[in-house]
Amino acid sequence: MAPTTPTKPMTFAYAPAPESRSVVDIAPSYGLFINGEFTEAADGKVFKTISPSSEEVLSEVAQATAEDVDRAVKSARKAFESWSALPGSERAKYLFRIARVIQERSRELAVLESLDNGKPIRESRDADLPLVAAHFFYYAGWADKLAHAGYGPDPRPLGVAGQVIPWNFPLLMLAWKIAPALAAGNTVVLKPAETTPLSALFFADICRQAGLPKGVVNIITGDGATGAELVGHPGIDKVAFTGSTEVGKAIARTVAGTSKKVTLELGGKAANIVFDDAPIDQAVEGIVNGIFFNQGHVCCAGSRLLVQESVQDELLDALKRRMRTLRVGDPLDKNTDVGAINSAEQLARIRTLAEAGEAEGAERWAPDCELPGSGFWFAPTLFTGVTQAHRIAREEIFGPVLSVLTFRTPEEAVAKANNTPYGLSAGIWTEKGSRILWMASRLRAGVVWSNTFNKFDPTSPFGGYKESGYGREGGRHGLEAYLDV
Ligand code: NAD
Repeated sequence: MAPTTPTKPMTFAYAPAPESRSVVDIAPSYGLFINGEFTEAADGKVFKTISPSSEEVLSEVAQATAEDVDRAVKSARKAFESWSALPGSERAKYLFRIARVIQERSRELAVLESLDNGKPIRESRDADLPLVAAHFFYYAGWADKLAHAGYGPDPRPLGVAGQVIPWNFPLLMLAWKIAPALAAGNTVVLKPAETTPLSALFFADICRQAGLPKGVVNIITGDGATGAELVGHPGIDKVAFTGSTEVGKAIARTVAGTSKKVTLELGGKAANIVFDDAPIDQAVEGIVNGIFFNQGHVCCAGSRLLVQESVQDELLDALKRRMRTLRVGDPLDKNTDVGAINSAEQLARIRTLAEAGEAEGAERWAPDCELPGSGFWFAPTLFTGVTQAHRIAREEIFGPVLSVLTFRTPEEAVAKANNTPYGLSAGIWTEKGSRILWMASRLRAGVVWSNTFNKFDPTSPFGGYKESGYGREGGRHGLEAYLDV
């Protein structure tokens, strides 16, 4: 089909609709949460956390040292004795209570997450927070049913879990880690990412509010050095990591030869595959949600669009039309679709890869959009004429950048989709159920969505193939990682 002339979409004037900041009270400084108390780091060191949309300093948090990590692990070890001895139905009560407090405080937590992370309030309010509460509810339900999970009549917890999480979904990644660990009877030491420590520290307060026994959850803040201390600590029985493949490999080397169990949730370069019989408008929504949700800071983002050649022009016209309507700006404005890039470092990484795309010959396109003067911003961008050899088709950009490739046959789509070192997720857009099943069984990806994208549910296992890591989080499978089975 011939390309249609791009028409300017009808635009509406939106009045600003900012969510109030007054619902969240951020203290000027926070300590480490060890054994139920906030304490300073052993050497008194602190670092600042800023709002990526304005570069305003939000608070100062403690930088945990090896000594602090040791204190936190010992506190978790001590708490393990009584926590693991509690009947599952008692542990469930605490988890339910935490879930309820999260629901009650969801507006406050959503505003906090948008401030510290830069994600639009529409997403933190409607996606992150409901999923966080759902995870705690879901695993609360498992706590007294472990004998029926398929892991034997009396599955035992592992002990102390050392958990390290990234900055893209700070509170949600915390929930993915802490809820199953506690349900199975483990205690935890968790380290949030250095650019987004605040929601984990608020979660520490929620643990106190829920009356959780001291030492069951310990939160230590710090950078990669603190994370390395934690995963290398001999008192840890289980390492759970979500983050980059590079750090995941370093962690695998650290734990090799020890008795520690490990799960790694790493990067991705998902193919979102659109066939010529797909409903184009729905597919466009799925593509937009697949790559521009959370500024593309999503491990399972649909960052490679594979479109069947015969509908390429029609699809790209519709996609560009839709991209022109995306509103980029203040994360706290309820009209915002795309918020701030999480950090100056991440922005630099995105720029470098986008420049590589141009230098290697792909064609860059972005809608006209005015970006705010302060903070870290990147306009939603797409590249056409991308080949499989281009860096932007191979490397994870982790930003709002879509690489478009084409295919002619289903076999070619499978071959191109699987031509990646990663294997976390994929999407298929077609009207034919038989084709969905044929494709899904051939795609080397942990999650395959059909006629939708980026849908999450606590009952559904999530995890990768190849360099996307190993182990599964979520669902019944997510319990296995925290049980001695
Ligand atoms: P990162 O690997 O740089 O950092 C992740 C966490 O690891 C942070 O808390 C960091 O302080 C810590 N860390 C850094 N070096 C460490 C070390 N040597 N030992 C122990 N901990 C260390 O990743 P990032 O930039 O924060 O996050 C982005 C990456 O996370 C992307 O690659 C993304 O795909 C991945 N991710 C994966 C999933 C998944 O479920 N598969 C989910 C979200 C993000």
